[in-house]
Amino acid sequence: MAYGTRRPGLRLLAVHAHPDDESSKGAAAMAHYAAEGVEVLVAICTDGSRGAILNPAADLPENRRDIRAARSMEVANACRILGVKHQFLGFTDSGLPKSGEAELLADCFARQTTADAAAPLVRLIRTMRPHVVITYDESGGYPHPDHVMCHKISVTAFNAAGDPAEYPSDGPPWQPAKLYYHAGFHRARFLALHEEMQRCQEARKAHAHMAEHW
Ligand SMILES: [Zn+2]
Repeated sequence: MAYGTRRPGLRLLAVHAHPDDESSKGAAAMAHYAAEGVEVLVAICTDGSRGAILNPAADLPENRRDIRAARSMEVANACRILGVKHQFLGFTDSGLPKSGEAELLADCFARQTTADAAAPLVRLIRTMRPHVVITYDESGGYPHPDHVMCHKISVTAFNAAGDPAEYPSDGPPWQPAKLYYHAGFHRARFLALHEEMQRCQEARKAHAHMAEHW
């Protein structure tokens, strides 16, 4: 245990679009809270089946044959390392069409209605009963249709889960206390980051005896 504070009895739900987003967006925060005894669950909206293999070392026949299985195994390993649990919501990856490519396929996550696509997340919130939910902001973090949809269903499910009149057949109501957005690529965030990095640079220069080694 690396941290002094213990927070048993608290539960955090992070909603992500694809298997791998849990490791590139907010992973340190999840690992931090898990290490403090918080129960952390990652909800993964889609199966990642329309993702591309970017790493030549992983461009293997078995991965090309069944990328869904490969990504499922990868996310299980990643979540074990982070100390968190994960659960798929069961939607099909929408892919990221380039300009000129065909439109999104009808079966994909981003083509569902928000109300329908939010139902599995409402069920999960009412089962897991998180105190805090984290997801992407309105931009989705970057303009992938699954990330934007992930934001939409997170907001819908957060607002509906505590209302007995909403999704009445999807479990007893539970209202999480807070919904946080993260991973937003907006100007204010990067400006703040830039300014703080400049400040660090200035602080580093104050150590003149070390500066030439850094
Ligand atoms: Zn993603």
